[in-house]
Amino acid sequence: MSAQETDRKRLREAIELAARCPVSPSAFSVGAIITDADDRVLATGYSRETDPHDHAEESALAKLAPDDPRLARATLYTSLEPCSTRASRPVTCTRHILDAGIPRVVFAWREPDLFVDCEGAETLRAAGREVVELDELAHLVRATNSHLPGIEP
Ligand SMILES: [Zn+2]
Repeated sequence: MSAQETDRKRLREAIELAARCPVSPSAFSVGAIITDADDRVLATGYSRETDPHDHAEESALAKLAPDDPRLARATLYTSLEPCSTRASRPVTCTRHILDAGIPRVVFAWREPDLFVDCEGAETLRAAGREVVELDELAHLVRATNSHLPGIEP
């Protein structure tokens, strides 16, 4: 499987994980998967997994030790662009990803300005992280968020 095919497969899996999120009228449903350099799954997470304030990326990261050496070569797949501003908790997913030292992020859908203005992709790129946007899968993410106002698959 090519690296591009691997990215698409893992991102689809992350999008499928979002179907497990308890639906919220005021928040996105997101799925996230962290893999190591050999495409082994290290952790998965989804929005509101154990608490109404949980974001998918932080839920996945919380399952790993902050000093896990595999994070230095990991890829984080998330259906939605990592948040750079949030109302629920002080630390954003973009900050969590930077702190964890994850060098590569793949996402499908750039967060629309529905709740907050998101600059996750730009912030990660400015910090030297590789950010891959596979927007050909964005319609699947919109479908898992069609409960939100103005979002259509
Ligand atoms: Zn977040």
